[in-house]
Amino acid sequence: MAEVGESTATAPPGQMRDIPVGMLHDAHCHFFSTRFLEALARQRGRDESPLDLTRELQWVDPETPDALADRWVRELDANGVTRAVLIASVPGDQSSVAAAVERHPARLVGYFMLDPAAPDAATTAARALDEQHLRGICLFPAMHHTALDDGRVAAVIEVAAARPGTIVFVHCGMLSIGVRKKLGLASRFDLRLGDPLGVARLAAAYPAVPFVIPHFGAGLFREALMAVEACSNVYLDTSSSNGWIRHTPGLTLDEVFRTAVAVAGASRLLFGTDSSFFPRGWQVGVHAAQRLAVERLGLSAADQVLIFGGNFDRLHKESR
Ligand SMILES: [Zn+2]
Repeated sequence: MAEVGESTATAPPGQMRDIPVGMLHDAHCHFFSTRFLEALARQRGRDESPLDLTRELQWVDPETPDALADRWVRELDANGVTRAVLIASVPGDQSSVAAAVERHPARLVGYFMLDPAAPDAATTAARALDEQHLRGICLFPAMHHTALDDGRVAAVIEVAAARPGTIVFVHCGMLSIGVRKKLGLASRFDLRLGDPLGVARLAAAYPAVPFVIPHFGAGLFREALMAVEACSNVYLDTSSSNGWIRHTPGLTLDEVFRTAVAVAGASRLLFGTDSSFFPRGWQVGVHAAQRLAVERLGLSAADQVLIFGGNFDRLHKESR
């Protein structure tokens, strides 16, 4: 719900106003746990510990899930962020995020990456939602080489559909994972599979399930907008620095927001940063750039409240 008490008058583009009163929630952060690093170490196959990787990456040791959850909450506090989605970012790491959500249920909402081609995918998803109190299933079709019209994906969506309030997040478009590059891990992604029109097909089949396409479609902006227009249960998240913009000559973040608001309306845009590791922490610059972009568009205070928190609260009425 939008907590708006102020004027919704618009300001001329380019003219800054006070930030509207409203909660700031981040719909897209990654929980880079010790188990996440263990999985990357296994993939590299050099008999390294998670600590070896943190030293190489110059990251702060994530330690236990409880310790990392506390670090996240301190970071959110320091930046005026009330709630955040934390994503378990490798299949099989649901328990780390579950522990974080258990510790801070009012602040954190847990999503988890799922490989729908894994033999136990539907059971894993059901357990994560029912017993571990997670709220979103994250699919990465390009990474897991599973098309969105594959029956195994439908089986996973069925699990979400049977549990009202469950979000299905589908990464589309350009996929590039910084930590994999830094560690020299091969990323044999099939970018053809991350298609927003495939999300539209699923969203039409499961109209009660909210689907989230991150990064405005990460380069497939037009297709993401088509999915949004075709299906009222498709949302876009605004997260990351949106580097995909440079794939389209002349495109700017301002124009992306202008077009997205025109097609999706402010009620289907979810602010996110794509923050992940420490010491970098919460991505202040991403928030500042997006806040400036919407200010320059002269979006009403009410619309800004929706994008930066109201829609999040509508989708996640409670953490568990
Ligand atoms: Zn991300």
